[in-house]
Amino acid sequence: MTNRDTYSPWTREYRTETRAAQGDGWRCPTTGAVPPPVSLGATFARDDQYRSPAGIAYLRDQGSPGYEQLEGVVAGLEGGSDALVFSSGLAAATAVFQVLPAGARVVVPETMYFGLTKWLLEFGGERGLEVVRVPMDDLDAVAGAVGAAPTALVWAESPANPTWLVTDLAACAEVAHRAGALFAVDNTVPTPVHTRPFELGADLVMHSGTKYLNGHNDVVAGLLVARPEPSERHQEFWERLRLHRRLTGPIPGPWEAYLLLRGIRTLFPRMRQISATALTLAEHFQGHPLISKVAYPGLPGDPGHEIASRQMTGGYSGMLSLHVAGDWQRSLRAAEHCELFIRATSLGGVESLIEHRYTFEGPDSTSPKDMLRLSIGLEDPADLVADLEEALERAAKDVP
Ligand SMILES: *Cc1c(COP(=O)(O)O)cnc(C)c1O
Repeated sequence: MTNRDTYSPWTREYRTETRAAQGDGWRCPTTGAVPPPVSLGATFARDDQYRSPAGIAYLRDQGSPGYEQLEGVVAGLEGGSDALVFSSGLAAATAVFQVLPAGARVVVPETMYFGLTKWLLEFGGERGLEVVRVPMDDLDAVAGAVGAAPTALVWAESPANPTWLVTDLAACAEVAHRAGALFAVDNTVPTPVHTRPFELGADLVMHSGTKYLNGHNDVVAGLLVARPEPSERHQEFWERLRLHRRLTGPIPGPWEAYLLLRGIRTLFPRMRQISATALTLAEHFQGHPLISKVAYPGLPGDPGHEIASRQMTGGYSGMLSLHVAGDWQRSLRAAEHCELFIRATSLGGVESLIEHRYTFEGPDSTSPKDMLRLSIGLEDPADLVADLEEALERAAKDVP
């Protein structure tokens, strides 16, 4: 794990929270800088024997010195064998579908991150992929779709954006593997703090690093993580992903890689507080006269609660959706009346965000019109509750 620019002096295996906090202990060997310096080089000089001193020739090909640390830390958090950082979550996700052979059949959730659905519908068919969309919480539907014809890949996301539908990842992994398909999981929302998909049978984990991993709304990045103990077939697929990144260039710049790793250092305490606050808000607004439904897997009445409790540890993440009672326009008005909740897309940062997904996604949207998606941050829960209470009351007055 040593090259000339960064290294880790660690000789023992530490727990994931320790690994995150210290970035696996890497530092600059010449100055001792904690954390290691950012190297902004896009190209790297060779020595007089024409060797690359750090094994790095060009930024698009291998990244630069800090990337090895970042990828090692994320692989460690997920319990995977390797990781690749990408320039966005979607660059990472679509890489998986782009390296599949033409004609491959993929089974994906009906409810998942909007951008990936859109890519699959716009470009998947054109590239010869057979895209089969199923309600991923219905295991019979998943098994039926996977069993109907040879399937290359099953994709899952749980809880799924933006309705927080819960998928039984272990059961889906079994269905996929029985049919010889790879099983990939978008673990952006739960993060490895709350869910470890490899322990449930996943072959590949994907992250939008833009969200909780970075946590500060100042980076766009993505990651893929390879399963532990990959077979020859898994390894071949992984090497194709690496080659795809190298030959198409969706790799972040050194600043983004640095900021992403800096965010990861506080991932555990952020997730603990965010998930606790999200539960407080979900409990507060459940049964509220101005709210018709709260979607949050942490609530005992939520349809996904039992499975989520089995596959998530230490919390249910910080995403919930509120369905506003009355005319659907009330939900939009409520968002407009918030002061503390910022009207912005994205999720996973330290600032709480509120979004009317239907308006954001446009006419193709399948998001319910009365739904407000909340990304809970690190503010005092009482202030967040008060902000929403006041906004809901004002919205109820605006729109009968
Ligand atoms: C944001 C997000 C993505 C896409 O990531 P980008 O970094 O925005 O490209 C994928 N999956 C989920 C669950 C997300 O929230």
